[in-house]
Amino acid sequence: MTRIESHPLPHHNERPPWSVVDTVIIHSMFAVDYKEPDSVENCIAALDKAEVASHYLIGRNGEGWRLVTEDQRAWHAGESCLLIPDGKFQGVNDFSIGIELICTNADTVTEEQYHTLGKLLVEVLSRHPIRFIFGHEHVAVPQGRKSDPGTTFCWKRFKSELESNGIDLRNLTFPDTQA
Ligand SMILES: [Zn+2]
Repeated sequence: MTRIESHPLPHHNERPPWSVVDTVIIHSMFAVDYKEPDSVENCIAALDKAEVASHYLIGRNGEGWRLVTEDQRAWHAGESCLLIPDGKFQGVNDFSIGIELICTNADTVTEEQYHTLGKLLVEVLSRHPIRFIFGHEHVAVPQGRKSDPGTTFCWKRFKSELESNGIDLRNLTFPDTQA
C-alpha cells in the first residue's frame, strides 16, 4: 500500500451517475524553486489558487498526496476529449482519475515518482476498470492548449514500472508515442 497523505481541495463535484472511471490522465507541473519540505505545499497552494485539482499529486521524492477522492469529479483536465478507436468522449473529468507529477525546470520525473506512480496505479486499477492512460496534452481541447506532461515524462519508463508491478499492458491503451 502506497503511503498517501491527504490534503483535500474543494475543486471537484459529483461525477455523472452513469460515468464509469476507465481513464487515467497524467499531468506535470513545474515547481518554482523546489525546496523540501514546503514545495509540495506550494504546489498545492498553486492548484488551489487556480481552482483546479487532480486526484493525486506526487512530489519529487515520491511522496503521494490525495487532493480529491476518486469517487468525485476532480477539475484537472478542463475542456477535453478522449479520442480513441471506439469513439470520441468529451469532458474527460467525468470518467478519469488525474495524477499530477511535480517537476522542476532542471529535471524530469524522478525514479521515486515512477515508483510511487506504479504502486498507485496498481491500487487505482484494482478499484476501476481502467482501459486508457493518457497525458493531459493528448486530451486537452483545443489541441495544443496543454503540453503536460510532455518531455518531462518518459512513457517507456512508465510502462516498464507498470510491468514490474505486475500490470498487464495488453489491457491498456496509451498515447501513440515513442518517448
Ligand atoms: Zn495538466
